[in-house]
Amino acid sequence: MFMNSGILASQGLAFGKALLYKEEKIIINYNKISINEVDKEIKRFIDARHKSIVQLKSIVKKANKLFGRKKAIIFEGHILLLEDIELEQEIITLIKKLNFTADAAIFSVMNDQIIALKNINDIYLKERVIDIHDISKRLLHNILELEIIDLSLIKDKIILIAKDLTPSLIAQFDIKVVIGLLTDLGGSTSHTSIIARSLGLPAIVGLGNITSKIKTGDIVILDGINNKFYINPSSDIINEFKLLRRKFFIEKNELKKIKDLTAVTLDGHMVEISVNINKIDDVKNVFSSGAESIGLYRTEFLFMNRSSLPDEEEQFLVYKDIAKRMNNKPIVIRTMDIGGDKYISYLNFPKEENPFLGWRAIRIMMDRKDILYSQIRAILRASYFGKLYIMFPMIISLEEVLFLKKEISKIKIELFNDGYFFDNNIKIGVMIETPSAAIISNHLAKEVDFFSIGTNDLTQYTLAVDRGNDSISHLYNPFSPAVLYLIKRIINYSHIEGKWTSVCGELASDRNAVVLLLGMGLDKFSVNITSVANVKKIIRNTNFFKAKKLVKNVLSESTVEGVMYLLNKFIRKNNILNI
Ligand code: PEP
Ligand code: MG
Repeated sequence: MFMNSGILASQGLAFGKALLYKEEKIIINYNKISINEVDKEIKRFIDARHKSIVQLKSIVKKANKLFGRKKAIIFEGHILLLEDIELEQEIITLIKKLNFTADAAIFSVMNDQIIALKNINDIYLKERVIDIHDISKRLLHNILELEIIDLSLIKDKIILIAKDLTPSLIAQFDIKVVIGLLTDLGGSTSHTSIIARSLGLPAIVGLGNITSKIKTGDIVILDGINNKFYINPSSDIINEFKLLRRKFFIEKNELKKIKDLTAVTLDGHMVEISVNINKIDDVKNVFSSGAESIGLYRTEFLFMNRSSLPDEEEQFLVYKDIAKRMNNKPIVIRTMDIGGDKYISYLNFPKEENPFLGWRAIRIMMDRKDILYSQIRAILRASYFGKLYIMFPMIISLEEVLFLKKEISKIKIELFNDGYFFDNNIKIGVMIETPSAAIISNHLAKEVDFFSIGTNDLTQYTLAVDRGNDSISHLYNPFSPAVLYLIKRIINYSHIEGKWTSVCGELASDRNAVVLLLGMGLDKFSVNITSVANVKKIIRNTNFFKAKKLVKNVLSESTVEGVMYLLNKFIRKNNILNI
């Protein structure tokens, strides 16, 4: 079966067995049991608990090996909680005295604990809610004989079929075994897609209900070049795919030759290519990708998949490590951009109708000065060991910039008094990713050292189209004349003030956008590690003078169609995509 109604999130090819990651619904039996069934129900509970402990022991071993002690300890904690004698007594009492089924007793006891903990104002106890929730889910799955898909235990290569690729799902699996991804949800710049691209994982997202169309064990061809996939393909399709794969690898090898060349146009205009990273582990691939620097470090990933805030010392050690490993090459550290589609359980998030318009990024940090201070102190302390820049996301006003700059000055005095060394001239930049920031970029450019355009959010907010909502993904288009107008405006104003601008949104590596951004005078492209060579190829095949002329024409177009027509014509006529 052939299908292609999704959004190509990450290029590449994969061929293999599918693994469907779909959690089965837990249905609890609330009927009262008879006296003769009590022993049987107690045994059901004891057996399910035993099975859960055996599973967890094997996860502890695996987690130790793959992720280290820190992660393994979480599962050891689960075992201790399961072995808790009070918990056992409470569940057995409900079965014996109130004639509950074992599943109803487990659910009731665990749920009471969760409610009680949620009502206590203590961060440590609140964290335990997640653990109890996980244990309760495992116990109930085992007692109801539902399948638990333990991604951490998979050894063979698979194409993962899931509702969405959440950071916590990624944390569970060994990235070497997942060779492709098909999801129900997601848009081209949702974080699912960004993560898939940064992992070099071929992915098609926003497929609606792919989780009900593919079964575990189905053979899948994922053609992430042409945005197609096949379920249980015929031998003809398999042969065609193998040819495509050969061609793809040849092209990939050709690109490898380009990656270390400079990003210079045919007529000698030079730009900088840097990369976006999400975690410290990505640093090892920065130089081998051909990039010169890190244009965006999304620090919020340091705050996710854990149960409490990383303190100043922990952050300092991470930033210092990156600074040293980058050998004095620039690293733009973006302050924590939590909120929107990135959520952390321990921050007491209010219930929001519109999280993308809500408590996000600097809005959180300006309310929670402790978070602002620990992060800025950590970055400043680490700046002594390399070339770090600070960048603030989600700016909407000059007041915010002035406030944040003032806080940085105060922190510098604090650090000086505490006897720390730091880069007193550290560069401070902002992301331009809201229409408001783009419109006042003339004012902002006077106050900061650089801009980085977050085209993922700028497109979302300018067009009022949720970047992760697949049902309106056809409306999400960074080539819209409105977005292009703003990008040009931002670059112009930064240059008027003698500052530089980069694009760190996904648009910077879009094959149709590179010539356009280049012609607009963009100084720096900050792209995924896997896109560096391709972006260099396009730049090296482009004439800057001609690209500037192209921009003039494109900006006078009033429709996306008109823009795309001019871009495609330019790219074809000038052989831009040739190796
Ligand atoms: C952007 O919005 O373009 C950006 C780079 O930031 P993020 O994708 O992390 O929101
Ligand atoms: Mg953004």
